[in-house]
Amino acid sequence: MGEAVNPQDNLILNQLSQQAYQRFMTKLRLVSLNKREVLYESGSTLRTGVYFPVTAAISLLAHLPDGCVNELVSVNHEGMVVAGACCGTLSFDRAQVRTAGLAYRMEVPEFMAAIRNDEATMFDLVLWSQRRVRRMAQSLSCISHHSVEQRLAKYLLVDLDNTGVDTIECTHQEIADSLGVRRESVSLILKHLEDEQAIQLRRGTIGVLNRQALVDSVCECYEPPVKHALSQPALRATFNQPSMSLAGA
Ligand SMILES: [Zn+2]
Repeated sequence: MGEAVNPQDNLILNQLSQQAYQRFMTKLRLVSLNKREVLYESGSTLRTGVYFPVTAAISLLAHLPDGCVNELVSVNHEGMVVAGACCGTLSFDRAQVRTAGLAYRMEVPEFMAAIRNDEATMFDLVLWSQRRVRRMAQSLSCISHHSVEQRLAKYLLVDLDNTGVDTIECTHQEIADSLGVRRESVSLILKHLEDEQAIQLRRGTIGVLNRQALVDSVCECYEPPVKHALSQPALRATFNQPSMSLAGA
């Protein structure tokens, strides 16, 4: 696979106690995820595994009542992805790879066994779950209250943060599907950004020439990424920090 990674590059695995980390270590397997790969579908009963992204990023997409599909959250090295089916319920979202890369994977029974009787780890996972729910609620609020221009800027910035490079591999249709809007609207906004020399459009890719222009136009829902090199106390503080207030709430 070529890239030098280890499980502690994922913030959730990084903040495990030493004992818990040892239990997880023996069960984690490094996997390569391909762009657009679907890990599970909404309504699925499959127990497809628990993913801890390292260099990959995974979109959780929801079918909204109006028929649109929207990205609720993008999960990178800061989080993990667990199918709803793990808990004996149907998955309400679809997990699809947004950025190709590496992730650590555990089988569901192994994950459940690793956290069983470990109150500290379960407590941290509950905190993480609460933070995830807040982010999802914020995404829904973003859809309702913020413009497509703002949301598209957020989409591009998140992709830049996930990949660490200034070229985004995606089609206008993929962005439109993620934002739940028409492709024509996305193409119009991208053309405007290109006219402003913020981006350069090529077939299947978007080159970002001026990141600050995107930052200037994004809504307050955008959160810059957490750096890998944080100390353990700083990581825990970051992990527990409240997310921003809901837009318009
Ligand atoms: Zn927003």
